[in-house]
Amino acid sequence: MADAKSVYTLADLQNWPSAVEGLNPAPRLAVIGDPVEHSLSPGMHNPALEACGIDARYVRVHLKDEELEEALKLFAERDFIGLNVTIPHKVRIAELMDHLDPLAKRIGAVNTVLFEDQQLLGFNSDAPGFQRAIREEFYVDLQDMRILIIGAGGGAGRAVAIQCAEEHCERLLLANRTLEKAEALVEELTPDFSDDRVSAPAERLAAFSTDDPALEEELDQIDLIVNATNLGMKRSDPDPLPRGVLQPHHLVYDMVYSPPTTRLMESARNDGARAANGLSMLLWQGAVSFEYWFNREAPVSAMREGLKSALS
Ligand code: NAP
Repeated sequence: MADAKSVYTLADLQNWPSAVEGLNPAPRLAVIGDPVEHSLSPGMHNPALEACGIDARYVRVHLKDEELEEALKLFAERDFIGLNVTIPHKVRIAELMDHLDPLAKRIGAVNTVLFEDQQLLGFNSDAPGFQRAIREEFYVDLQDMRILIIGAGGGAGRAVAIQCAEEHCERLLLANRTLEKAEALVEELTPDFSDDRVSAPAERLAAFSTDDPALEEELDQIDLIVNATNLGMKRSDPDPLPRGVLQPHHLVYDMVYSPPTTRLMESARNDGARAANGLSMLLWQGAVSFEYWFNREAPVSAMREGLKSALS
């Protein structure tokens, strides 16, 4: 029997019958991105499809920005069930949907597409995936937390900040290298923090530059710290927070998962804090995408095992 290619292209979609000749099951789900070779999603979703007895395969498709519109038409014609969308297409693809789920609309980014009755439906599973990851890693819910997001001005940071606001977390500090982006997000989220709690919105929601020394003083009043910057993927990266500032009561969630123990996590553990990497967010966003596609609970153990093998 033929093996699936590691990465398909628009040219393959245009000549789909020959590109997938001999493949059983046929590809009916894909992750699209540029680049996309690194994506671990097939390793997680193919075992899930098999565990549920669904006759479909999940593949990677490399698409450039200018190829997205044609590719979406071709996916629909090729009887695809849905897509995951990764860097850099999450914002552009949202503009190409017929219908956006309210959370995806608010975030302005789509990472899950469902093809249904000739319509393109767009969802965001990163944000609820983060919420479930935090629950699994630390046994806490966002609504009880005082949260600092470092890198809140990036795509992932924005999604996570909106999820925290939607959950009515106790306090939300948004830090970003480019302060203006964090300030704009604070303005956007202010109505979410104007409820009848004792503290004023200004005390519950604020923006900081990542190198502002005042941020360190706020850490006493923070429970959960999220790294949503790119920092930590390379050993030579600077630390997202200065060393030695973390405290034993902190929960530190690094959205980076490669390496599995980042310098921020090491630093947190040295300071007596608990720390986890972003693999659980990857897993749970996948589980939420699966729920959107199939309207059923995802086989999370099969996905977790698949992810472990894909990483080894
Ligand atoms: P992005 O949109 O490019 O945002 C990058 C963020 O990092 C921005 O806030 C940027 O600040 C900040 N940044 C970059 N270099 C910096 C530096 N040298 N110093 C301080 N801040 C810096 O990227 P993204 O898509 O949000 O992804 C961010 C991270 O999350 C990546 O590591 C990605 O792999 C990870 N992620 C993980 C998952 C998961 O499932 N675990 C899901 C999504 C993303 P400026 O705004 O100032 O440029």
